[in-house]
Amino acid sequence: MYSMNVIASRCLMETVTPQLGIEYAENMGISTLVSSDITPAAALGGLTYGVTNLELTSAFAAIANGGMYTEPVFFTRILDHNGKILIDNTPETRRVLKDSTAFLLTDSMADSVVSGKIYAREGASVSPTSIAANLPNMSTAGKSGTTTANNDIWFVGYTPYYTAGIWGGCDNNQKLTSVNGGTSFHKRIWRSIMTRVHEGLSDPGFTVPDSVETAQICRKSGKLAIPDVCSADPRGDAVYTEYFAKGTVPTEMCDHHVRATICTVSGGAATEFCPEETRVSQTCMTVPDDGISTDDSVFALPAPCTVHSSAGTSTIINPNGTFGTTPMGPGYIPPAGNGADSGTSGQGSYYTPGQLSPGNSTNQYSPTPLSPGSTGGPTPYTP
Ligand SMILES: [Zn+2]
Ligand SMILES: [Zn+2]
Repeated sequence: MYSMNVIASRCLMETVTPQLGIEYAENMGISTLVSSDITPAAALGGLTYGVTNLELTSAFAAIANGGMYTEPVFFTRILDHNGKILIDNTPETRRVLKDSTAFLLTDSMADSVVSGKIYAREGASVSPTSIAANLPNMSTAGKSGTTTANNDIWFVGYTPYYTAGIWGGCDNNQKLTSVNGGTSFHKRIWRSIMTRVHEGLSDPGFTVPDSVETAQICRKSGKLAIPDVCSADPRGDAVYTEYFAKGTVPTEMCDHHVRATICTVSGGAATEFCPEETRVSQTCMTVPDDGISTDDSVFALPAPCTVHSSAGTSTIINPNGTFGTTPMGPGYIPPAGNGADSGTSGQGSYYTPGQLSPGNSTNQYSPTPLSPGSTGGPTPYTP
C-alpha cells in the first residue's frame, strides 16, 4: 500500500529466495535478467540491465489474468486476399502463478490506488502510493516504481479489462524534477488513457477464485480478530475482512488487543478495591515493555488503580444501607457540604477525621451518628 521497499526485499530474501524470484520473473516473460540480478535489490527492480516496458506490462497482465501468461503480440493473423490464413500468430498462454496467488497480488495492488477510511483511522500521514491512478468507476490495481533520484518512473496497472504500463524519464538519464514534469505525471497519463478505453464499460470487479477464502482479521496484529475486542479499538474498528489462499487463514487470535476493566476515578486498571460504579470495560493495547513509544503506547493497558486500595479505602454505609467503598486516599476531596454532618442522612460517612470539606467551618471530625439507626459515634454499622 505504501510502497515500502524493505518489506519487498525481506520477503525476497527470507521467504521466496532471490534465485526462485528470478525464475518466477523469467517465467513471466522478463528476458533481460542475468546472474548478477540474484540479489536483494532485485525485489525493488534493481537489475543489471533493467526491463523493457513491454515485458514488464506483460508480466503484470499475467497477474491480472488470474496467473495465465500471454506472450505479447502485435498482430494475430495475416490473411491473403481470399481470406486464407498465411500466418497464425495467436499467442499461446501458460500458467505462471496459482490463481489464488494472482488474486492476492491483485487485492494488494488494489489497496495502493484507492483511498479509504482505513488510512484515516490509522492516522497515517502518507497516502497510498498510487491514488493518482485511481479510476473512479472501475476496479483498479497497480504498482508504481521509481529508480534512484527519480531518473525513471513507472506505473503498471490493470482493471478487469486492460493492463497498461507507463514509463516516464529522459533519454539522457537526467533526474525528473518539478522543472521537467515531476514524478507523478505518468499516473495521470495512465489514468487518462484508461479512462478513455473503459468508456461505457461496467465494473465487474476482480474475480475471486474458489481457491481463496476470507477471514475476519485484526488490523493491528494480523491475526484472527477477537469479537467485540479488536472492534473496540479506541481509534475505531480494527477488524476487517482479508483474503487468504485456502488453508492459510491465521489460527492464532489477536494478541495486541485486550479487554480490560478500567477505574474511571484513577484511569488505572481496576482492582478488587475499585467500587462497582467506577468500573468500565474497554479495549486496551498490549505493548512491549521496551520503553519505546509507538502509536499504541497511549492506549496501553494502564497500571493498577492506586486511588482505591486496601489501605486507602474506607468501608462506609451507603444511603441504601449496604456496604461499599468510597475514595478516601491521598488527594481525595469530600463532596461539598458533606462535612457538616447532619447526623440523619448517613452521608457523613464520607468525612474522615482531620479532613475539612469545602463549606465546612469546623476543622475537626464530628462524631455525630453516621448511620441509619445508629445512636451515636462512628460505631461500625451492622445491617
Ligand atoms: Zn486485535
Ligand atoms: Zn479505582
